[in-house]
Formats: sequence, structure tokens, C-alpha cells
Amino acid sequence: MTTPSLPAERTTPVVLGGARAALWLFGTVLFSVALYYFIGVDQGATSVFGDNMYVHEFVHDARHFLGFPCH
Ligand SMILES: [Zn+2]
Repeated sequence: MTTPSLPAERTTPVVLGGARAALWLFGTVLFSVALYYFIGVDQGATSVFGDNMYVHEFVHDARHFLGFPCH
């Protein structure tokens, strides 16, 4: 007695058009640059949200973990 074999599961890659791929690329780059700025550059003196250290203190551990100069 043989057991019936299950049909092989087919997978298909995600297919994006050129404009949609460019939009994803733009969004990814924008998000990455913003993340880089807030973790690596924003230090109060050059803060986006005024002359305070809120962002700096919020990402302080990540800043040290990633090796950005701090203090
Ligand atoms: Zn520090």
C-alpha cells in the first residue's frame, strides 16, 4: 500500500513593476537616512526637534552599540 504523495507546493517570487520597485527603493532609502540621522547625528545642537537631547537620549544605547562617537 502506497500513500498518495502530496502535490509539490509551488512558490512564486514577488514581482514588482519598475515604478513600484522605485517607490519601494525610495521609501527604504528615506527611512534608512532618517534612521541614520536620528541615531548617528542628532545630538541636541543639530537636533530636528529644537535644542534638546530627547532624541539623543532615546537612541543612546543604539548609538553606542553601533559605534557612533558620543561622549
Ligand atoms: Zn553616549
